[in-house]
Amino acid sequence: RSWAESKLSSALLRAVERAGYKTPSPIQMAAIPLGLEQRDIIGLAETGSGKTAAFVLPMLTYISRLPPMSEENKAEGPYAVVLAPARELAQQIEDETVKLARYLDIKVVSIVGGRSIEEQGFNVSQGCDILIATPGRLIDCLERRYTVLNQCNYVVLDEADRMIDLGFDMQVKAVLDAMSSSNLKPENEDEQLDDKKIYRTTYMFSATMSHAIEQLALKYMRNPVEVII
Ligand code: AMP
Repeated sequence: RSWAESKLSSALLRAVERAGYKTPSPIQMAAIPLGLEQRDIIGLAETGSGKTAAFVLPMLTYISRLPPMSEENKAEGPYAVVLAPARELAQQIEDETVKLARYLDIKVVSIVGGRSIEEQGFNVSQGCDILIATPGRLIDCLERRYTVLNQCNYVVLDEADRMIDLGFDMQVKAVLDAMSSSNLKPENEDEQLDDKKIYRTTYMFSATMSHAIEQLALKYMRNPVEVII
């Protein structure tokens, strides 16, 4: 399979080419078509598999179909949130997102612990399409009203197993609970989806499957497809 068959926009195909990604990796081949259909995905994949681009490319496709962030809608918060367990991973996700969004007008902000919350809070309050965050720092920013998640319908939990191991389970759930549940897809798989409605799409990546991961998936995901690499 090649990138040309992937149904990505020309702006994304150009960015992929510019990044030097000659062919899609196995996780990208499996996850990108499902992501473009807004299916919820549980990806069992390690760092190095190309998992970041596997969720960033569908996320950028989703955002490029929404109205551009304006003065009015930026007050409703980001269009997409990526949660990561640690600063370094958040930084890598930000670098990859900026690289692949090169030919799009999309603003990315990251907020992580260990740096000034006032400064990061100010950055996020200025508006962004994609917010990359560690769970604790995002909760702090929500509590301090630097941002809200009123129009976030695209969520990625990266290295979910590590977030749980580090004790961020409650914080991850608090972030997901801060989003409107009215956009969740219906529980019943056979129920017709409304073409005009935007549904919440949730991606979860983990190196391993565990009880805690399954519980998260049961509560917050709808008919997820498992992609095992
Ligand atoms: P990740 O697993 O997302 O941490 O990605 C590992 C590395 O592979 C990163 O440096 C990416 O920039 C790179 N990468 C991602 N997708 C591809 C691809 N299709 N071809 C070559 N390199 C890639």
